[in-house]
Amino acid sequence: MKIGVIGGGQLGRMLALAGTPLGMNFAFLDPAPDACAAPLGEHLRADYGDQEHLRQLADEVDLVTFEFESVPAETVAFLSQFVPVYPSAESLRIARDRWFEKSMFKDLGIPTPSFADIQSQADLDAAVASIGLPAVLKTRTLGYDGKGQKVLRTAEDVVGTFDELGSVPCLLEGFVPFTGEVSLIAVRARDGETRFYPLVHNTHENGILRLSVASEDHLLQNLAEDYAGRVLKQLDYVGVLAFEFFEVDGGLKANEIAPRVHNSGHWTIEGAECSQFENHLRAVAGLPLGSTAKVGESAMLNFIGEVPAVDKVVAIDECHLHHYGKAFKVGRKVGHATLRCDDMATLEQKIQQVEALIKG
Ligand code: AMP
Repeated sequence: MKIGVIGGGQLGRMLALAGTPLGMNFAFLDPAPDACAAPLGEHLRADYGDQEHLRQLADEVDLVTFEFESVPAETVAFLSQFVPVYPSAESLRIARDRWFEKSMFKDLGIPTPSFADIQSQADLDAAVASIGLPAVLKTRTLGYDGKGQKVLRTAEDVVGTFDELGSVPCLLEGFVPFTGEVSLIAVRARDGETRFYPLVHNTHENGILRLSVASEDHLLQNLAEDYAGRVLKQLDYVGVLAFEFFEVDGGLKANEIAPRVHNSGHWTIEGAECSQFENHLRAVAGLPLGSTAKVGESAMLNFIGEVPAVDKVVAIDECHLHHYGKAFKVGRKVGHATLRCDDMATLEQKIQQVEALIKG
């Protein structure tokens, strides 16, 4: 079976690493000459709106999936005429736009911060008056890793902020005084079967994920599964979906969903029976899903900007290096390490060892 992937970054690369043993081949559509998934499959180097190359991709593959959600809607609509596309155009439409996403949470009775659609500075002024400060202004689309958003704490912060974010449609959200951030990686098969990985506790720095720790019997696991299950059913979703929540007042508030494999699920490569990457491919290919059970204690640390010396990373027992083969650049995710240990005390010790390498 040949899988077409829109995007050829590290998520595409890890999809191919998981799918190759299943007998799958890959073609990546990505305009970047140095797309890091390219060594693992065919690289169609073209823009996402290039219909000639989209048609070529559709002719060559059995199905198409995505490694990022900001794919133009026309690209998805065009491909869907010729080849099955998972997750669906409708799932992408909702998940890529914070207004549609939060409106869906509200309709499904899933708690989420107060929010308002912002099309102008006047809308922003009115929304601040009703939601209050502090609040967070986010672009409705194209934001990632803390980009395209600003925390508003004082009345001065509000002045001119709509222009500062590019005068594009935005969402104002009430600031959540969360005690923690967790994510749930879910997978839904074509026949509707749904499985969930254990909740992951995430730590961010400057808006970028730094550390994920898989939890054991988290008190909010069932609640998170209930909320995610409602979304998966509503969207008739196929594939892996990541659901990010704030932990607040002993419950959960939905932050956002990502209609794809997710950075906070990278630990599953070594830390779960079947990784998020393999399960995404199984789901879209119509294969039975794999077990989402955790094997031991597990954590993932991102390498941002550079990968520490390889010999030092692999010298740490129970530490698994994933180097994405990308050029090093400040603020860029260029690799990660997964730790898998028998107990939490050892895991915490190893996290400190890897953090020491990161700090150099
Ligand atoms: P996002 O791109 O929406 O995931 O936001 C990136 C990070 O900003 C989140 O992981 C939080 O740490 C923080 N953040 C986003 N929205 C809020 C909010 N409404 N209240 C408090 N912190 C937030």
